[in-house]
Amino acid sequence: MSQKVRTKGKGAYVCRRCGRKGKGIIRKYGLYLCRHCFVEVAPSMGWRKYE
Ligand SMILES: [Zn+2]
Repeated sequence: MSQKVRTKGKGAYVCRRCGRKGKGIIRKYGLYLCRHCFVEVAPSMGWRKYE
């Protein structure tokens, strides 16, 4: 009876654009976007390329 239940919270970030959750979420600069969305949004925000 010592099983730990995995709860989502720490490290589980969700993309604000498409709602995908995973480890590919970019929370740099408080964006909280997945890489796919970032590539689409970045140009309109002034970003040229994501490194
Ligand atoms: Zn996304």
